[in-house]
Amino acid sequence: MSFYNHTISRVMDLAAIIRTIPDFPKPGIQFKDIESITENPEAFRYVIDSFSDKVQELKVDKLLVLDARGFLFGAAIGYKEGLPIVMARKKGKLGGETVTESYSLEYGDATVELQKTAISKGDRVAIIDDLLATGGTASAASSLIEKLDAHVVLCAFVIELDALNGRLQLPDSEVHSLVHF
Ligand code: AMP
Repeated sequence: MSFYNHTISRVMDLAAIIRTIPDFPKPGIQFKDIESITENPEAFRYVIDSFSDKVQELKVDKLLVLDARGFLFGAAIGYKEGLPIVMARKKGKLGGETVTESYSLEYGDATVELQKTAISKGDRVAIIDDLLATGGTASAASSLIEKLDAHVVLCAFVIELDALNGRLQLPDSEVHSLVHF
């Protein structure tokens, strides 16, 4: 049950709002600037309400938010839905015992880490991030959750870059994206 009533009364044209920065951070990358959502309260509210509806529908009981832009969205959903928020962080940021997974990005390589105590066996987890590109990040986060004997029931993104087929890396959970490029 949500702390607040909300109804998504209309579909917002997020594609028209999101800025693209060409050739950042490398030549050839069309960088989708998620700040065009966070600096627009109406768009941000629309995104959070949409994610919250999905989280309720799939009976999610924990949010795994991805470093760093996923934190913005995940924190707001967690507050709204009254759900625990746990972080998958870039290597070296977390204390305590962790599980670790390395992966490839659209532009580079990375390692993601999660505290072992963050996820309990059998948890129904939603992965929250700003953007699905190759799927490497979300797939690595999924592996962390599976290593801890929990289930990824939802991967939610504001933006999905369809040409990169990232959802093929996430065959075992529902993939929910609000805008496709
Ligand atoms: P991937 O692992 O390839 O799905 O990449 C997803 C992560 O990289 C997300 O956390 C995004 O923040 C970031 N990212 C990848 N490609 C882009 C892009 N074209 N524009 C903005 N962010 C991107």
